[in-house]
Amino acid sequence: MGKWLVLLLTLFGAAVLGVQAALPPAPVAADAPPSDFAAGRAMADVRRIAVAPHPTGSAANAAVRTYLIDRLIRSGFTVRTSRVVLPEKVRTRMAGRGAPATEAINIIALRPGRDPAADAVLLMAHYDSVPGSPGAADDAAGVAAILEIARAIPRADQARDLVVLFSDAEEAGLNGARDFFGRPSKTEVTLGDPLAGRTGVVINLESRGGGGRAMMFETGPGNGGMVGVFQSVVHDPAANSLAVKIYELLPNNTDFSPAKWRGLPGFNFAFLGDARLYHSPLATPDALDQGALQHMGAQALDLTRALLAAKALPDRAPDLVFGDVLGAFVIAYPPAIGWLVLAAAGGLIVYAARARRQDWTPGQTGLALLDALVAALLAAVLLYAGNLLSGGDGVTNYYDRLAALPRLEVQALLLSAAALLLTRTLIAARRSLWDGWLGLALFVLVVTTALQALLPAGAPIFAWPLLLIAIAMALTARARPGTLWPTLLAAIPSLALIGGFAHFVLLGVGISMPMAVAVFAPLVLLLLWPLLPAAPRRPILLAALALVLAAGALALWVRLDPMAPSVPPYSDTK
Ligand SMILES: [Zn+2]
Repeated sequence: MGKWLVLLLTLFGAAVLGVQAALPPAPVAADAPPSDFAAGRAMADVRRIAVAPHPTGSAANAAVRTYLIDRLIRSGFTVRTSRVVLPEKVRTRMAGRGAPATEAINIIALRPGRDPAADAVLLMAHYDSVPGSPGAADDAAGVAAILEIARAIPRADQARDLVVLFSDAEEAGLNGARDFFGRPSKTEVTLGDPLAGRTGVVINLESRGGGGRAMMFETGPGNGGMVGVFQSVVHDPAANSLAVKIYELLPNNTDFSPAKWRGLPGFNFAFLGDARLYHSPLATPDALDQGALQHMGAQALDLTRALLAAKALPDRAPDLVFGDVLGAFVIAYPPAIGWLVLAAAGGLIVYAARARRQDWTPGQTGLALLDALVAALLAAVLLYAGNLLSGGDGVTNYYDRLAALPRLEVQALLLSAAALLLTRTLIAARRSLWDGWLGLALFVLVVTTALQALLPAGAPIFAWPLLLIAIAMALTARARPGTLWPTLLAAIPSLALIGGFAHFVLLGVGISMPMAVAVFAPLVLLLLWPLLPAAPRRPILLAALALVLAAGALALWVRLDPMAPSVPPYSDTK
């Protein structure tokens, strides 16, 4: 009875904390102090830019360009445009989508600071939309945020030049940005724009959706110094070095890629929430989550202000491991420090094991290592099957699946919960508290050590919860039997952290690879172990079955429902 109550309290606490941390801030109104970033002010530009679809080459695109040039001149910039001839392949594709174009036109603006010889800060967003979408989020929000940032920083505060690139034809294939930063190829290297050669740091603003918190998900090479700046100046941060590594493995590109290929340091921001609005005809200014605009703009303003005022930009330094802690602050450290976190966790686990040496046996603890493996495999198999049933094998349209992401996320949650209940009740039912707990802790310790050795950027998401639960284990070992509060206190922030990251992973790859979140199953089992009852067996198995059936029903709903109205007209509507 007491156990169930503590379990419910823990899950409730983690849900409240996790949801709180996953929500974007409230948008700031237009009458805010001039030095603030105000989404209320930026929305005026979003409404002008996203009044209609404005793909490269269209009359609407030209109208947006005229408007932006005027806005930049009024903000103290000197402005020029640069023509980019589109390759034949791009022309054919654009024509096929009913938006013929032969060239792209970049808008390049400069507002000088005190030292014209100093490396410039470059703010970048693309002003084209896909055909058929007003593009309020992608990328009118980024363009409007840059105009609001330039307004909020008085020119007198600029120690160095501020360059703005509103690129064109991002949606066609990054053509504007490729031209600006130069296109290294096998046969020739074009130098790009002269201002690209004077750029010291790039900040790119993007979206793949219409809401949620804006994540800093990509940096330039050798990010140590730049991440240090991010850590010290950004309020309400969202950033994670594991996201940077995952993104490196994906084939996706944004306008930031050509800057990175040139070796420039920088920051890439995007919000991924409300994914149905990606490239959608429904992506209007009214549909845009102004909190997402606020969060992206405010983080970029903090960074831009600090970088523009700095006497010198940070030198390139070895990559740091970093992550925000529930949006409150950023922890950043050199990869080697991760070994200390692991050593501390390992030491505490050994301490707990010695203090309770009468309560566990090597044999049963060894078997509990397998419980962890079963939990991960079972979760992966269930998530894979659920994904197939929902149409993840290509039966449904890509954008239709993006629209179904909230349902697919609930499905992943139900199946993960079922996997944990089934593992506890069927596989690990006989494990004593300490046999199971120590075995699971050892498993997570081994996995985290492997990550620390092979992919240190990915270790914190495991290492920090592991350290917290290791502290809880040490405290529990010394407490009287049945003490659960150390577990509760360790599990609430840990589950919120893991849940927040799993949410981000599912937004990123959930429509094709929800199985990715199965890697967290052993860690979640470890965090909840003392709270998960193995008996009574029958009701728990029935509960797991109900979870699987509910997930299956959701999957069939996603598979069989009519095409979402948010799907772009040019996409293959099968
Ligand atoms: Zn975009």
